[in-house]
Amino acid sequence: MFDNLTDRLGSTLKNLKGQGKLTESNIKDTMREVRMALLEADVALPVVTDFVEKVKQGALGKQVQSSLNPGQALIKLVQAELVSVMGEANEELNLNANPPAIVLMAGLQGAGKTTTVAKLGRWLKQTKKKKVGVVSADIYRPAAIKQLQTLANDLDLVFFDSDITQKPVDIANNAIDAAKKQFLDVVIVDTAGRLHIDDEMMGEIKELHAAIDPVETLFVVDSMTGQDAANTAKAFDEALPLTGVILTKADGDARGGAALSIRHITGKPIKFIGTGEKTDALEPFHPDRVASRILGMGDMLTLIEEIEQKADKKKADKLARKISKGKSFNLDDFKDQLLQMQNMGGVGAMMDKLPGMGNVPQGVKEGVDDKMLARQIAVINSMTLQERRFPDLIKGNRKKRIAAGCGQELQDVNRILKQHKMMQKMMKKFAKGNMANMMRGIKGNMRGMRM
Ligand code: GDP
Ligand code: MG
Repeated sequence: MFDNLTDRLGSTLKNLKGQGKLTESNIKDTMREVRMALLEADVALPVVTDFVEKVKQGALGKQVQSSLNPGQALIKLVQAELVSVMGEANEELNLNANPPAIVLMAGLQGAGKTTTVAKLGRWLKQTKKKKVGVVSADIYRPAAIKQLQTLANDLDLVFFDSDITQKPVDIANNAIDAAKKQFLDVVIVDTAGRLHIDDEMMGEIKELHAAIDPVETLFVVDSMTGQDAANTAKAFDEALPLTGVILTKADGDARGGAALSIRHITGKPIKFIGTGEKTDALEPFHPDRVASRILGMGDMLTLIEEIEQKADKKKADKLARKISKGKSFNLDDFKDQLLQMQNMGGVGAMMDKLPGMGNVPQGVKEGVDDKMLARQIAVINSMTLQERRFPDLIKGNRKKRIAAGCGQELQDVNRILKQHKMMQKMMKKFAKGNMANMMRGIKGNMRGMRM
């Protein structure tokens, strides 16, 4: 999904990583690239212009946090703007109505309406425990009614039959009456589409909308049509008040122009995305998660934010100064680092937000979590101040005493000494480094050690 955009933005932002800080000139260069990337992704021009301007202002105005390098700082701004342009948060379906809540589907032919009726029915049934009925008011193609019937049967949704001699308004009203008698919670009404917007189709769906007064009117649109998706949505919205958009075929869309244009151009929220042909391939649309996917970063941003918010910057700066003066990273410093990680919710909490870590079993994550941090801290607490400052003192008898003091095994003491050595080496590498670098290093080490 949106792979081209991911690659393009990724390489653009990576170019910034090597640079010391954000400057007017590297911001300008980067934003030119971001602009190109968005245009190539078929994002609508007004959206691109606005997007680039906001990120640029943010970057220029931002007193860059010492704990973030310029690449990260800009990623954060781009991420925030991606989320904002897609609508901030997921907007749920509104089903507050006298049952049955009526959902009307609109859209061009082939957009995926009928498939989405089935997907949504399934989703409402499974996740919201709703009793769902579906009906087709597509009287132009007998096959369309049959298509919905087959899907409904497969999914055990109530299907209200219709035929091409009936009027769409009658079909819908009959279904709603029947649904009331069966105490259904939701009725989803499928409609006919055309290849293009035409007055006849608009007239028909307007009439249907007026007759059944749906609580949700969802515009179904093919993601691969890019910014056209936003323009068609706008045209539909002028004819009948849409309450939301469902973006289909996101699985086949490498660009993402539709996802990024629709909210800005129409003011309507994308409520779901379709991510495959099967009926389970429907996801609530979460702007923040999609933004993370676009940036190819799992939920890295939350992690960066946490480092920004929770890391003790004064301590980090003090440590950085100390190391840069050539002083060595001792066990007390190590303990400080461990305590900071504990403050951030432990290693497990961080790992969850790393890209590609979603598949690591929970048990493994917990193994490297807070318990381990607490035990490491306990080992260091069991050492004398002198030992913490001069770890080389710690030999045979001292090791035994330390292990006994914290109720752990000799090998636990050895392990912490080994980890400390690794950290010390890393600190030398990052002699002038900052907190973010250190945190990355720590995580790398932890993973390396356990897996
Ligand atoms: P309608 O004319 O708007 O009712 O569109 P249909 O529901 O009949 O779907 C048209 C085609 O798009 C069918 O082949 C569907 O399988 C396919 N389709 C619908 N949604 C998705 C999706 O999210 N991903 C993929 N890959 N195909 C989809
Ligand atoms: Mg259809």
